[in-house]
Order: sequence, then structure tokens, then C-alpha cells
Amino acid sequence: MEKKYTPLEIEKRLSTFWEKKGFFHASVDREKQPFSIILPPPNANGAMHLGHAMFVYEDIMIRYQKMQGKQVFWLLGLDHAGIETQFVFEKHLKKQGKSRFDYDRDTLYQMIWDFVMQNKHVIRGQMRQLGFSLDWTKEKFTLDENVVAVVYQTFQDLFDRQLVYRAHRLVNYCTHCGTSFSDIEVADKENEGLLYYLKYPLKTGGFITVATTRPETLYGDVAVMVHPQDKRYLHLIGERVILPLIHKEIPIIANEHVDRKFGTGAVKATPAHDFEDFAVAQTHKLSYPVIIGFDGKMQNTGVVDGLRVNAAREETLKKLDALHLVDKIQPHKLVIKVCYRCGRTLEPLPKEQWYIKIRPLADQAKRLITAGQISVYPKRFTKQLIRIFDDFIDWNISRQVVWGIRIPAYFWASQKKWFVSQKPPSKCQICAGQDAKQDEDTFDTWFSSAQWPFATLQTISPEFYQYYYPTSVMETGYEILRPWVARMIMIGYFSTKQVPFRKVFLHGMVRDKQGVKMSKSKGNVIDPLKMVALYGADALRAALIFGTKEGNDTVLPEDKIVGMRNFANKIWNIGRYIKSSQKSKIKSQKLDSTNLKILQQLQKEQKQLEKKYHTEMGKYHFAKALELIYQFLWHQLADYYIEQLKEAIRSGKIEALSALKKAYLENLKMLHPYMPFVTEAVWQVFHGEDKSIIENSIS
Ligand SMILES: [Zn+2]
Ligand SMILES: [Zn+2]
Repeated sequence: MEKKYTPLEIEKRLSTFWEKKGFFHASVDREKQPFSIILPPPNANGAMHLGHAMFVYEDIMIRYQKMQGKQVFWLLGLDHAGIETQFVFEKHLKKQGKSRFDYDRDTLYQMIWDFVMQNKHVIRGQMRQLGFSLDWTKEKFTLDENVVAVVYQTFQDLFDRQLVYRAHRLVNYCTHCGTSFSDIEVADKENEGLLYYLKYPLKTGGFITVATTRPETLYGDVAVMVHPQDKRYLHLIGERVILPLIHKEIPIIANEHVDRKFGTGAVKATPAHDFEDFAVAQTHKLSYPVIIGFDGKMQNTGVVDGLRVNAAREETLKKLDALHLVDKIQPHKLVIKVCYRCGRTLEPLPKEQWYIKIRPLADQAKRLITAGQISVYPKRFTKQLIRIFDDFIDWNISRQVVWGIRIPAYFWASQKKWFVSQKPPSKCQICAGQDAKQDEDTFDTWFSSAQWPFATLQTISPEFYQYYYPTSVMETGYEILRPWVARMIMIGYFSTKQVPFRKVFLHGMVRDKQGVKMSKSKGNVIDPLKMVALYGADALRAALIFGTKEGNDTVLPEDKIVGMRNFANKIWNIGRYIKSSQKSKIKSQKLDSTNLKILQQLQKEQKQLEKKYHTEMGKYHFAKALELIYQFLWHQLADYYIEQLKEAIRSGKIEALSALKKAYLENLKMLHPYMPFVTEAVWQVFHGEDKSIIENSIS
């Protein structure tokens, strides 16, 4: 046995060994109970970060369950990550002085496809380095043809059941990125803005002063609104206003949602460019002139057409000021919605999109949770999940990006009707004419990932689906409880009439020493692979779990990883001590009563430890179970028992040594799910290099 534990070489050898042996190569075995986890599919475009390393929880579950005799399956998949990937690719194009607008749809799609295929192996190799026991032979990709077919079928079913519909509504649109986002994809940003007091001339003479943060949308105004009980304006309700610069007549209307304390208490209504005003326009049957285009430029104003929004604001103010119609301008804090990708202000724009009618799906999903068909761990997230279902609004699934699954819906132009067809129709399915045109949009990435558990298993084989579905545990970060977990439950149940998983286990985020979230821009990111290269995969894995309360954020200072590297060395050194003691002359001599007592104590303590360990594992208290083994190996076995029995062992008392060895090996097995490499390496020292600790059950 080498004097020093050298993780780098040993880990490489063992990864290959496990794969060759096919230990985690899943199959259907009806004699055994199945245990399956679907890996949350990482983006196919990127490299590994610490967030991915948190999937070590899944590896712990898989290895533990396998050693408990279950038939395990940990499914590897990658996500095409629509918008995300397209943006990464566009940055890459930009470096070459190109943009996506230089290519037609098919060429662009093919280029991104090639780009992703080149990158796919990167993350796969990185997960191997961490020792993940995924089944590498059954990798799935969200754009696999048979997966896409499942996604089409789901859309068709939703359409047939009238759970998906098209609506012309305001969407959050990034004119820079060229796509809309759903309500949960937008970020809020506090902004030091300005509030403009503009004087609108009354038709009968005089003015009404409106307060607005967006003077440039004046051209799209269809009314001035006041509160119905606002005494200052009661006499003006029903009067007409002449919009400055364009001389258009609009009414003054009463609306109870107007905040009397905001500005002057009179506000303008611009339905095409403000969510609240859009709702008002619908109740009051007002029109909604669109004066900002999807390119972010002004249109249909006759005054500032072609200008970008900010330039149009300046120009409009200049013109109003020349007419003495700007009363005053005040500093004004406001929260604006920004694109989570590029950080630019999102523009509310009217657009026709597909929406999923969420209420029936969310109510059903909520019933599944309250009936205990899916349990959530840590428990406190149950309430949060129920609230998510209560609050879910209709889901906009149309995205204006090329990289994704194109929506299989066709527009029948002559009749202005939509139909869904899973195969491109050669003729219009309604009138048999040639005028059917496919929707240009692609699905929101979350629409396909919401189907991931059943879409993957169904496309492996009917037997796999039957045997492994519902999956055992969905393990993921708590931050995607709403966008992903909740949607998987809704869509999963809709499509399969079963829950997609029996348990949800949520982990937290990794933060730096100061408790700050890690991000590239803050420069506080720990690269997991650098840590693996320095200290070994076991050290990183154990450091992520040790002392981390499940579901809570964790802090990962480098010295914690060093501490776990030291623990791996300790394990190695105990093994070396036992191994080298075996070589000394074997004798069988009676132990004295003190030694006998110590051995009995060791056996008793070991039994208690095993019991506690399984209890904690059963409760998903992974940190506690690890700490039990850590404390025992280091402070009991090494510090106490070995010290106490050293003399007896030196004098060749074989019972003492074999008792120590037995306890040690049992601990290795319990530790294996956490630190697979060092435990396997030592196991092979004792049992031979073709043997594996994985083939043994934990007592
Ligand atoms: Zn953007
Ligand atoms: Zn037709």
C-alpha cells in the first residue's frame, strides 16, 4: 500500500473500472425494487459549476440504494436550454464579427446544433471526474427526435382538451434579445427615475396635468384616468382632452384603480405599452395603438418614428417644453422589469402567443401534494409549493428564438384558424388547401423540461417506463421549485395520470465565506474542477455535504475542502496501519480482560453507529449520517481504539486486529456513498483490484 493517498491517479483508474464493470448500467429486474433519479439536465452549452456539484446528493442516494439491494437508475440528460444557449452562441458569433441576423433560420439552427454537439462531452467528462454513478449508456437530449415527438404529443393533447389557447396580450419583450419572456423569467431592478408632469389641453379650455414616467408613450394614449371619488376631477369625467403634438381627442375616464396620491391623481392610459392600462382598455373597450415596434423603435407616431425609446423621450420632452406643456420633473424611484439575460429594460408589447390554461392543472397538482402523493423534503418547502400552485397564472410558452422545439401549430390563413399537427402537413388539415403556415416560434425550454421524467423513460423503452416511473426522487436546487418542479408535477400528471416522482428533495446554494452568492461578475466563484485537481473529488464531495443542513445554503471556504482531504488521508492511513499489521507474524493468543472489554465496547458502539446511520439516511439527513462516520472513524476508531489496542496488535493478538479491521471495513461501506474513491481504493487493497465495495451491502 502506497505511503500517500494520491487521489488524482486513483480516481481516474476507479472511474474507468466502475464503468467497465457496468455497476450503474440500469436494467429492468422485477426481482428487485427500482430506485430511479432523473438528473436535472444541465445546459448542453456550458461547463460545470458548483451548482452541478450539488448533484452529489443524487450520487449518494444512488450508491446507498444500490448497496441496499435496489435496482438503481440515474439518468443522464442534457438540456438544449433554448434562449440561454442561443445567447451563448450569439456571443460567440459576435467575436467573429457576425450576428444571428446574418443567417436564415435553418442555417442558424444547424450552426447552434454543431456548437452544442462539440460542447456536450465537456460536461459529461466533468461529471465523471466527480465520480457520478450515472448510467452513461442512456444519455438523453431534449432535442432527440423521439423526445420531441413526446413534447408534440403533449401539446396536441393540451390543444385538444382546450388547455392551450392563443391570446393577444402584452408580453415582457426584450427588444435587444428579440424574444418575450414569461412572468417568472423577468428580473426586477430598482431605478432612480423621473416623474414627468405633463399638461394636456382640455377641449373646453384649460389643462389637466398628468404624471407619468414615460412621456414618450403619449402617442399611444387612449384616455386620461382619474379616481371616481377624486373631488378635484369629478367635474372633468367625460370631458375630452386634445393630445399634444398629435392633436388626437381622447376622453377623461374614471377608474377606481387610480392612486389618488400618485402625482396629480390624473394618469394617462397607454394600453399597448403598460400591463395595467391594457387591462383597463379591455374593460372599457378602448383601442390599443401600438407605437413601439419589436425592434425597440417608435412607430405610428408621426412625430418620433424610427427613434429608439430613450431618444424619443428626449425629443418628445423637447417639443412639449417648447409648447410650455412640461409642468415639472421630479426624481422618482421605481422598480423596472429588466431582461435577466442582458439587463436591458423590458418593453411591454402586445403579441399573440400560446398560453397554457394553468388553473385546472395547478389545482390538480395541489391536490396531489395535499394528499401526500408527493412528499417534499425539507418539509417547509411543501407550503411554498402549494402557494406556487395557488399563484400560478396562465403560462406563455411561445419564444421568438430559433434554438428550440418549433411549435407544431399551423395557421390556416383564409379562415384565420389554428390547428396542431405533429407531422408537417402537406395540405391544410381543415380545408385541404395549401395555405397552412407553421408558427415561427419555439417552445419555452421549460415546456419540454416539464416533461423530462416521462419523456426520457418513455423513449428508452416501454419496460423502463413501466418499471422506473414514477421516479423515486427529484433532487434539485430550491430556486427552481417554481419554474421546473411545479411544472413537472402539473404536466407530468396531465400526460401520464401519475405523479412524475414520489419525493422532492431540495438543496440550497453554495455561497462564499461572506455568505455572498457566487457569480462570475463578483469574482468569488470556486471552480469545482480546480478543487478536484488540488484535493480530490472525495474531498470536494464531502465538503459540500458536511455540516450542511439539507435545503439550506452552504458556505464553502477552501479550508473546508482541505479538512476533508485530510479526512481522506486519515482513512488511507488507518487502512495502511491495519494492512501493515496483518503482515506481522500471525499468532492467536488469548486477550487479557481489559482488551476483551475494549473489543466488546467497539462491537457495541459499531452496532449503534450502523443503526443511527441507516435512520439518518432514511430521513435524508445526509449531513448527519456523514458526521457520524467522520466522528467515529477519526475520534473513536483511530484516536481511541487503535491507541488502546496497539500493544496487543504489536504482540500479534489476531482477534484485536480482526475486530478493528471489521469495524473499519463496515465504516468504509457506510462512507462509500459520500467518498466513493478513497473507500473503493482501500477496499481493493484488502480484497483485490477486481473487487468492488459497491457489490457489498451495508450492515
Ligand atoms: Zn435582453
Ligand atoms: Zn386551409
